[in-house]
Amino acid sequence: MDEGAAALGRRMAGRLMVRGERPSVRSVAEQLGVEIVEQAAPPPAQPGLRSEYRGDPPRIILYRDPIDLLAGAIHANQRFDMLGCNLDELHIAHELCHHLEPRDRYGKLRQEESEEAAHAFAQELLNLSFDPRELHELLP
Ligand SMILES: [Zn+2]
Repeated sequence: MDEGAAALGRRMAGRLMVRGERPSVRSVAEQLGVEIVEQAAPPPAQPGLRSEYRGDPPRIILYRDPIDLLAGAIHANQRFDMLGCNLDELHIAHELCHHLEPRDRYGKLRQEESEEAAHAFAQELLNLSFDPRELHELLP
């Protein structure tokens, strides 16, 4: 898809690493002053939503039920490459990218570029062997 946005996401993740060490996503969130909250169900209008970022004050919301549904789908599809992945951390990493992405008028990303960057950012920060976009394909 958009190679530029993916490269931007990887570069942003690289900036958080110190001498090649990957930091924990929760500690990055804490350092950046981003609160992580958890709710059982997403808003009724977006039943499949697993997480979202909201600013002012900055916070990441994890929606437990859809994340657990995804965990079940990973098992059902026998995606052994995904089983070791901490889905909470994956979603926190994705949303952290939305927190960090350029928002000035020169750096503002289009919606699909923003998502592309966030997926690449999460894959790089968590050193995932799979593309996080593949997770969507596991769900009906
Ligand atoms: Zn996103």
